Amino acid sequence: MAGPAFHDRPGVIWMDGEFVPWTEAKVHVLTHGLHYGSAVFEGERAYGGEVFKLREHTDRLHRSAQMLGFEIPWSADEIDQVTNELLARQGHANAYVRPIAWRGSEMMGVSAQKNTIHLSISVWQWPSYFGAAQRLKGIRLDLAKYRRPDPATAPSLAKATGLYMICTLSKHAAEEKGYADALMLDWRGRVAEATGANVFFVKDGVLHTPTPDCFLDGITRRTVMDLAADRGYEVVERAIMPEELPEFEQCFLTGTAAEVTPVSEIGSHRFTVGEITRTLMEDYDAVVQPKSAPAAVAASG
Ligand code: PMP
Repeated sequence: MAGPAFHDRPGVIWMDGEFVPWTEAKVHVLTHGLHYGSAVFEGERAYGGEVFKLREHTDRLHRSAQMLGFEIPWSADEIDQVTNELLARQGHANAYVRPIAWRGSEMMGVSAQKNTIHLSISVWQWPSYFGAAQRLKGIRLDLAKYRRPDPATAPSLAKATGLYMICTLSKHAAEEKGYADALMLDWRGRVAEATGANVFFVKDGVLHTPTPDCFLDGITRRTVMDLAADRGYEVVERAIMPEELPEFEQCFLTGTAAEVTPVSEIGSHRFTVGEITRTLMEDYDAVVQPKSAPAAVAASG
């Protein structure tokens, strides 16, 4: 990983109502969010200075907090305004945006009824995409040991920090075997998603994607489904079993960070980077461009 560590960068971070020097945006070690996973976050991306679907991300942040039983004391309008101001102050056109809300330090035990809710927003530079040639090769996925939990076991639909424990373990295990990422099944043994992105398959010109009933219904996933509909591609949302993997011809991941990333292998199964995948990659690259930019006008007109 290139670049300085994340605690040691120039500029400012917005934290609890003010812009603070980046290196001073700290929390105390006795913070509930750190000990008990009582934190929710977002991953957003700015293209040409504009966050793609900012309000949808902000709304999801609020919903995730509600699923963890707390209310973020800043409105969506306030959060969006601060995000835009922060991007401008940091001077980034293409950037990653990371809001996180957590329970503070007033109580230090399982119960945290009196704890203040905190919010911070950080942005860092991130190029709009890797070289097209590199992406077009596709990435290799391992099959993860851990499974996405039953919604009766955890608030599976929240973008909550605690749910990423099994994602980090699964991604590390995959990386140790030389894979880029891992495909996770759900608690029933159905195909679910990768460790930080949703998954799509293509068979006979039709797209298939798992029903998001125990994992994030990604904002990129929904965007790609709309783009597929615009192209006249059929998309089937359904339960997909791992036994079906050999029947699929193409596979790709979708996510704010992943954008549309072709998959060339899952375990012993091989996929080609076909026309539907390539078309949706291009359509996604076009749709994320800022509405105000001349390129976007040309692309949509
Ligand atoms: N699943 C997981 C576990 C993720 O972390 C992400 C990234 N936020 C996604 C799916 C894709 O969501 P989105 O398209 O909203 O970024």
